[in-house]
Amino acid sequence: MRTHNDLLTELSAALGKDAVLVDPDVTDGYRRDMMPLAPYGSPLAVVLPADTAEVQIVVRACAAAGVPIVPRGAGSGLSGAANAIDGCVVLVTTRLNEIVEVDPENRLAVVQPGVVNLELRGAVEKHGLFYPPDPSSYDWCTIGGNLSTNAGGLCCVKYGVTTDSVLGLEVVLADGELLRTGRRTVKGVAGYDLTKLFVGSEGTLGVITQATLALRPLPQAPGTMVAAFPSVAAAGAAVSRIVREGIVPSLMEIMDTTTIEAVEAYLKTELGAGRGSAALLLCQSDSGGEQARRELTAIEQVCQDTGAELVHSTFDPAEGQLLLAARRSVLYALEEYGTWMTDDVCVPRTRIGDLIAGCERIGAEVGLKVAVVGHAGDGNMHPTIIYDGTSEAELAKAYQAFNDILALGLSLGGTVTGEHGVGRIKQEWLEREIGPVGMRVHRSIKAALDPGNLFNPGSMFAM
Ligand SMILES: Cc1cc2nc3c(=O)[nH]c(=O)nc-3n(C[C@H](O)[C@H](O)[C@H](O)COP(=O)(O)OP(=O)(O)OC[C@H]3O[C@@H](n4cnc5c(N)ncnc54)[C@H](O)[C@@H]3O)c2cc1C
Repeated sequence: MRTHNDLLTELSAALGKDAVLVDPDVTDGYRRDMMPLAPYGSPLAVVLPADTAEVQIVVRACAAAGVPIVPRGAGSGLSGAANAIDGCVVLVTTRLNEIVEVDPENRLAVVQPGVVNLELRGAVEKHGLFYPPDPSSYDWCTIGGNLSTNAGGLCCVKYGVTTDSVLGLEVVLADGELLRTGRRTVKGVAGYDLTKLFVGSEGTLGVITQATLALRPLPQAPGTMVAAFPSVAAAGAAVSRIVREGIVPSLMEIMDTTTIEAVEAYLKTELGAGRGSAALLLCQSDSGGEQARRELTAIEQVCQDTGAELVHSTFDPAEGQLLLAARRSVLYALEEYGTWMTDDVCVPRTRIGDLIAGCERIGAEVGLKVAVVGHAGDGNMHPTIIYDGTSEAELAKAYQAFNDILALGLSLGGTVTGEHGVGRIKQEWLEREIGPVGMRVHRSIKAALDPGNLFNPGSMFAM
């Protein structure tokens, strides 16, 4: 068996000394992601391979030395899934950051995993094309992280989540072999859908080193509508009716009263909700021209019918961007109140009002502020708990609220995670949600692909 020193010597010789970091002052920055509740350890080393061949070398060397690997993109995750465990190698993909190809004729792009989401969006826009998945962290999270968490964002209501934009992957397996999944064609059903197996697998099955992504034509500049409601039940009813009537906005976001107040204070502006509004619905249509006007008018009508106290639409891009900036700044605004911890339960769209009311109740029970913002169009809510990060007692209360919200989400017929993943924070909740047969199948797949439990052991579920 190779010693840790042998491993580090081998990795430094193959990747170069500057790609193998061992100084704790440096490696400390790679110990955890953005979820404050998740446990984390101290890595043996942080490695930054520059191409697929170097990833293969790292995987083979770590497997031979019995040292686990935690793959990592930007570390913006909210489940602890990229958190180091003691003695592991953290494999960071940020040097694998090439946009290998943009093929406008076939509407696809081939990219390495370390490419930042916003960079890809900008690069394909030059060809009149659009890569839809847009997590709010899109200016720093990586495509590899998005693939591995099956990230969502603001545009899922119309364009789906990350998996809906993936055609194929290149993955380094636990034995160092390179697996190519999927295709470059629009259709293709040869064999099991291995691409979808790796999407959302949270770094537990292999290291994604390249992805072929489907692109769409660039949508039109969006029109924006904002509606304020006197109760969350009325806002929830509006969402249900918009869905039932078959109107498909390109964005439909909801903010509760705590969130509205926080954003207004942070941006020093009025969102037009008016004092005491219980909920704000923000919708966009990117269909362009008359079609967009028709869609927003239909949404306005639904909002009025369900009791909105204010409805306003604009086709001025600057005003639309201002309203969207308010939504995107929610977490920064809540930071002014204290440390935040955000949940991501997803409930049927008919239960959004119940979820928001339930979160208010949970906040009152534990004695903490719980603000709710979310992707109303797909029912994916982000109840965000505010607490004093320096107080153990408040952290315990926040943890209690976090779990109570997951239980509430399940009781409403939802799922414990709509986009952030299970990671090191929701393992027992995964088991509760999918049951023993689901867990057995998960463990069989993991054992078949990673028999030595090399990749991200203990994350998502224990073997
Ligand atoms: C302010 C803020 C807003 C956010 N908004 C959203 C949102 O709207 N929607 C959303 O879905 N998420 C959101 N997130 C969460 C986070 O940004 C996403 O989960 C994102 O996809 C993580 O990307 P990353 O590059 O930071 O990955 P990391 O956090 O580094 O890793 C995430 C997971 O992917 C694995 N991984 C990374 N790269 C690879 C690879 N190449 N091969 C195999 N496994 C790999 C890791 O092991 C880990 O399990 C937000 C986070 C923050 C801080």
